[in-house]
Amino acid sequence: MPGPRLPNKSCIITGAGSGIGLESSLLFASEGANLILADINLPAVEKTAQLIHERFPEIKAIPVKCDVGIEDQVKDIVDRAVKEFGRLDVMFNNAGIMHPSDDNALTTPEDIWDLTMRINVKGVWFGSKHAIAAMRNNPGGSIINTASFVALRGAATPQLAYTASKGAVLAMTREMAMVHAREGIRVNALCPGPLKTPLLMDFLDTEEKRQRRLVHLPMGRFGEAIEQARAVLFLASDESSYITGTDFLVDGGLSNAYVTAE
Ligand code: NAD
Repeated sequence: MPGPRLPNKSCIITGAGSGIGLESSLLFASEGANLILADINLPAVEKTAQLIHERFPEIKAIPVKCDVGIEDQVKDIVDRAVKEFGRLDVMFNNAGIMHPSDDNALTTPEDIWDLTMRINVKGVWFGSKHAIAAMRNNPGGSIINTASFVALRGAATPQLAYTASKGAVLAMTREMAMVHAREGIRVNALCPGPLKTPLLMDFLDTEEKRQRRLVHLPMGRFGEAIEQARAVLFLASDESSYITGTDFLVDGGLSNAYVTAE
């Protein structure tokens, strides 16, 4: 029987209180990883830790309140992983926001632009920066940054700041992958398609808005967070040891679609 896919790995997941981060936390724990569960919403991430303790009592899962847009707080979660588990193997920079006031070039308020960039772009930079510093001490590290398919395809349902922020995540990921490849650190971007998580479902708050997207989805459905988590597990584990710098699409075929089936 094959062993666990993340045996005793030291992993940090940001945005671990909901959606992709929550499902990835549970999946990583089931594969033997010890976890720092970071989120700006402490009760949410405490609940994730509780679920892990109930299902996988041998796993260490530590909930920590962290705003990924504040560098000191990001440094603290990396230091905590090294202190608790002796090293850092996997950094999943997943936390992100899509603000309801984010709109087109004419209507997006500047403060919403700045907020989105602070969390979605600086958050990934800070997470990568401190993870790389820690991973230099133990080659074989994997950094995964959550971007989005909207960084690769245009949409006439605008969310300009969000789209720009995810484009920055892709470009930053690619460059970091090249700069640190010879240090044994891999850096990949996850590009999810539209998912049935609070982030998107709160945004698509009418049936009409949901149908406006569903017609473009080859499978005729939104993705599930667990379907992203399975890809993240692959990118985190040594199974993806020759994969770095990719825009790893998990989008149900959306980005290759022209006309979808009736
Ligand atoms: P979600 O809203 O379900 O979960 C996001 C989590 O991040 C929440 O627990 C939230 O509290 C946390 N968070 C928000 N701001 C934070 C901050 N400043 N610091 C730390 N934590 C913070 O969202 P999700 O759908 O799981 O999204 C996760 C990632 O996937 C995001 O980066 C998002 O942009 C991306 N993504 C989502 C979709 C989708 O359709 N849901 C599609 C493409 C990409």
